[in-house]
Amino acid sequence: MYDSLEHGTMLRCPVCGAEITVLAWRGGGSFQPRCCNVKMELLPQKAIFFKCEICKAEIAAINDLSRSDFTPICCNRQMIKKAVS
Ligand SMILES: [Zn+2]
Ligand SMILES: [Zn+2]
Repeated sequence: MYDSLEHGTMLRCPVCGAEITVLAWRGGGSFQPRCCNVKMELLPQKAIFFKCEICKAEIAAINDLSRSDFTPICCNRQMIKKAVS
């Protein structure tokens, strides 16, 4: 079990380096991803989600964008960065 699993949580396989991101999390489940026969490790960073206020489109930036000026546009408007709880 993982304590801090939520929307945007990223996990990595220490053996092959595969990375996964939780895109929808309903809570309550016991999600235990394994890869290469080992338990995947939690990564410190989280995926960053953006939402379009007009059409409700949602995207997730998987890589760390803290140093880049990423400004996705949808429906002619800048998408809103969603705070991951
Ligand atoms: Zn693996
Ligand atoms: Zn849109």
